[in-house]
Amino acid sequence: MDCLFCAIKDGQIPSQKVYEDEYVYAFRDINPQAPVHVLVIPKTHIPSADAVTEENAPLVAKVFCAIPKIAAAEGLTNGYRLISNVGKDGCQTVPHLHVHLLGGMKLTEKMN
Ligand code: AMP
Ligand code: ZN
Repeated sequence: MDCLFCAIKDGQIPSQKVYEDEYVYAFRDINPQAPVHVLVIPKTHIPSADAVTEENAPLVAKVFCAIPKIAAAEGLTNGYRLISNVGKDGCQTVPHLHVHLLGGMKLTEKMN
């Protein structure tokens, strides 16, 4: 399958890794929107949050288990924001489920 983030987690395309475990890979966004901008992905290919099911939910939960560890390692003691874009209207550009972890500054109140 031709998937950018599958290639990244397999090491076929270089990335700045910040976290990895059996189920999860996390790396710095190439076009950061905040001082800390990390993408957290399940190693299993799931196209988007719209493809979460009872079956793959445990893998998605692993992503959320990794997030507090990454946030702590990045020093985000004042908080952070999580975003997962879905589909065209959500402006999703890479069809592999990813959570943007943004922080390191006071973020705007705007959500769109
Ligand atoms: P989204 O628009 O929500 O699908 O997010 C995709 C994100 O992937 C964007 O923020 C891009 O900057 C980021 N991105 C694209 N290619 C790479 C790459 N090779 N390494 C790291 N981040 C990337
Ligand atoms: Zn993939």
